Amino acid sequence: MNRHLSEMTLAELTDPAGIRCACGKIHRCGLRYFKAGPGAVETLPEGLRRQGRTRPFVVMDEHTEAAAGEKVRGALRGAGIAFSEYVFPHREGKMEPDEWAMGALAMAFDPACDIVLAVGSGVINDCCKVLAHTCALPCAVVCTAPSMDGYCSNSASMIQDRLKVSLYNACPEIIVADTDILATAPDIMLQAGLGDMLAKYISVCEWRIAHLVNGDPYCEEIAGMVRACLKKIVDQADGLMRREPAALTAVVEGLVISGMSMAFAEISRPASGLEHYFSHLWEMQALRQGKPSDLHGIQVGVGTLLTLWIYEHALNLEKPDAARAEAMMRGFSREAWEGTMKRIFGPVFPTVAAISEKTGRNRPETQAAHMAKIEAHWDEIRAIIREELPSRDWVDGLMRRCGMPRVPADLGLTVQDTLDALTGSREIRDKYLTSSMLWDMGLLAGTAEMLKRDYPWEG
Ligand SMILES: [Zn+2]
Ligand SMILES: [Zn+2]
Repeated sequence: MNRHLSEMTLAELTDPAGIRCACGKIHRCGLRYFKAGPGAVETLPEGLRRQGRTRPFVVMDEHTEAAAGEKVRGALRGAGIAFSEYVFPHREGKMEPDEWAMGALAMAFDPACDIVLAVGSGVINDCCKVLAHTCALPCAVVCTAPSMDGYCSNSASMIQDRLKVSLYNACPEIIVADTDILATAPDIMLQAGLGDMLAKYISVCEWRIAHLVNGDPYCEEIAGMVRACLKKIVDQADGLMRREPAALTAVVEGLVISGMSMAFAEISRPASGLEHYFSHLWEMQALRQGKPSDLHGIQVGVGTLLTLWIYEHALNLEKPDAARAEAMMRGFSREAWEGTMKRIFGPVFPTVAAISEKTGRNRPETQAAHMAKIEAHWDEIRAIIREELPSRDWVDGLMRRCGMPRVPADLGLTVQDTLDALTGSREIRDKYLTSSMLWDMGLLAGTAEMLKRDYPWEG
């Protein structure tokens, strides 16, 4: 590899042979055809033809049908491409990517089709990835909003048995993002795309730290690619809110490449850190309470400000203190931990207990091993934080200018919901987060208290 991933064109990034990287791996993703810009939906037939697909199964809901249905149907009919379609019927509340949605798709599926075509953003795209995987078919997507970075990822964020899970499958082989369609998306969806990208300051920072402390595989080329997308999107933030075609194109390209970074890395690390776990936990709380959640990227934006605050306060002021970390571990009570986890996770507790068992994360030897790494690498960790993170005030100002929700109360979430999300974040997956490091250092409980006392909850 002579050039950096961050300098490559989309044609190079989507090379079926993959890219031999300086990190020693060959990075590839399943995306083969990507068009963004005004009128891009007209290129959908060309994308299908290039991939040798002749009959799409088109999936929409009432909103995405209104935004793009006629344009998609028109483009397909104009090219003489037969298709079947399913439009999710109107339901009260937000559509969830759950067993009901998947059952509805399975019951409507036309087995004569040779590709699943999602017309939508988050939920529709996720469900179509799962359907395509189930039917061993490729999938494609016509984006209706620049609202999240999952278009090109190889995973689908689903709700299974009322638990949020990531199912790994293939990423779409065709993505078409028509800025005439994207421009019709409501403000909140544009803000969500921005929120999902602001998260990358933290995800890249945390990825580097997890590499040092937990031995997670890290690729500087992929991190550089994510930083470049993030910069491009932040630079275009104002134009995005004014729906300028050039800004919409830049943002949707950045979102697609950010998703590609996860496919390249084969883990979600480049694009998801603690800020995403605030969102995951809030969503799980809402599921339990039967309440709707805000858009992924909107929650992630609020989680980004919380996490930046934690870095600026808890981690900036403190140093690793072996005695404090040991005292925390000595004082760890399995019974107390179980009580807290049962309160936070309710019926999901057995899953949390199983992950704790499997990872051994609450055992003294694991904690001591992490703590030794944190102490050994502390200067590097501090340097990483300085290099990767902008100030919270600066990000807060950008979000304010774009009219975004900035504090949990803006999303109807309480202080306790947020403290529980922080406490529970390190428990739900096998992933070393900022909160995992705080726990290993004996600082997590104190950080929750500090947040409760000093965080600018009023915004
Ligand atoms: Zn690499
Ligand atoms: Zn995200």
